[in-house]
Amino acid sequence: MAADAEAIIALRGVTKVYGSGPTAFQALKGVDLDIARGDFVAVMGPSGSGKSTTMNILGCLDVPSDGSFRFKRVAVETLDRDQRALLRRRYLGFVFQGFNLLSRTTALENVELPLLYRGEDKRTRHRLGMAALEKVGLDKWWDHTPAELSGGQQQRVAIARAIVTNPDVLLADEPTGNLDSERSIEIMELLTTLNRESGITVLMVTHEGDMAAYARTVVHFKDGLVERIDANHAPGKPVEAAP
Ligand code: ADP
Repeated sequence: MAADAEAIIALRGVTKVYGSGPTAFQALKGVDLDIARGDFVAVMGPSGSGKSTTMNILGCLDVPSDGSFRFKRVAVETLDRDQRALLRRRYLGFVFQGFNLLSRTTALENVELPLLYRGEDKRTRHRLGMAALEKVGLDKWWDHTPAELSGGQQQRVAIARAIVTNPDVLLADEPTGNLDSERSIEIMELLTTLNRESGITVLMVTHEGDMAAYARTVVHFKDGLVERIDANHAPGKPVEAAP
């Protein structure tokens, strides 16, 4: 991270122990990580290396066993469960591998859901929901249910749902894991556009180097620690290797 960039997320000495006694397992062993505001970060590493545990902590869904997590300079470990839920709702958006849309409701109703939880009135929900669908190129599909949409379109709806509250950070867990390569590229280009145009900080777990190539920063986990951080000076679609 550039020395002058503000870290929106800072982890220091973060550990996570699951269970207790002889079966206790240390999933994180002292993670230090700064994420600059506006960065596009790919999180990589072998299965079991601590990526999901870290994302759960960053998403305020879990707390470290020890160490500190500062989000916008707030020490998250000092917040209670309700305050963490508020932080999550106000500042974070989530995208999952399996889209996680409600099947019997329209694209617009799915996108409006976080606004409903926030207590927005119907008009505001409609206006902001349609604007978010427009950003992902699906405003004309607003009244379709997930079953009437392709996988790529469903993930776009899920992204619209994640950004409708205008969050600071988008946390994406293998967002292209269920998509073919063409659809995956479309989703990565959409995330790139949102990152560049809205300035939203993107953190994405991926196993695929071709998807990580869209990120500006690639964080490699190994055995519960950050093993290496690489800067990518030419993010985008990887150039195909010569045959
Ligand atoms: P990754 O996302 O990189 O695959 P995880 O963060 O899911 O890794 O898991 C790190 C380690 O912690 C793994 O060995 C996993 O088995 C263990 N682990 C994860 N969640 C739990 C849990 N709830 N209880 C016990 N062990 C867990």
